[in-house]
Order: sequence, then structure tokens, then C-alpha cells
Amino acid sequence: MSTFGCQRCGACCRWPGSVLLEAADVAVAAAALGLAEEAFIEKHATLARNRAQLTLKERSDGSCEFLQEDGRCRIYAARPKQCRDFPQGWRVDGCPGLSCGPEERRRNA
Ligand code: SF4
Ligand code: SF4
Repeated sequence: MSTFGCQRCGACCRWPGSVLLEAADVAVAAAALGLAEEAFIEKHATLARNRAQLTLKERSDGSCEFLQEDGRCRIYAARPKQCRDFPQGWRVDGCPGLSCGPEERRRNA
């Protein structure tokens, strides 16, 4: 049984690496921000290193530009699939949500 419960600490949003975007991710995030998809891509996306996908823009320190000062995601309800799925299928170290108990999981659900 999984013991994962996201603590909304924002650590994974500061780690180096790309948030790859699927077409549906662009549509959902653009709508959440009240932007046309083209405008969202222009403002918030860039070509990924694989040159086959788009990725969210990052700040100079490597953090996602949607990470707010309070550690929360500005587009949480419309975050990309990669973010919604994390950390499932990832090898991660340093995610406090991976070992939390049932009380913490409920609190952060
Ligand atoms: S997935 Fe883990 S590292 Fe990311 S915000 Fe949740 S608890 Fe923090
Ligand atoms: S879109 Fe939100 S959840 Fe995904 S990396 Fe950026 S701040 Fe984190």
C-alpha cells in the first residue's frame, strides 16, 4: 500500500529538470490562466531539451515559474500531468510525502 501524501512543501518544484507538457496540459493550464493556448506557450513554455516537446519555463535558480513564495503552485488545480503523477514512477530522495502516515495524508488530501 502506498504511504504517499504530498506535504505541499514545493521541494520538487525547485529541483532541476524539466516539466514536460502534453497537449492537454497546455489547454488546461491556459484555460486556468485565461489565456489562449498560443499565448500560454509564448509566455510560459519553451522547447524541451529533447526538441520534441514543450516544457514549462524555469526561473534562473531552476525552480518552476509557477511556484509561489508560499511554496504552493499557482496553477495547482491545472498543473501538468507530470506534476500530478509525481512521485509515482520516479526514483526520488528528499520528498517528505513519501513516508508520511495516514494522519498527514488526510490533512493534505
Ligand atoms: S511531491 Fe514531495 S517534494 Fe513535492 S511538494 Fe509534495 S511532498 Fe514536497
Ligand atoms: S506546475 Fe506547479 S506543481 Fe508543477 S512544477 Fe510548477 S509549481 Fe510545481
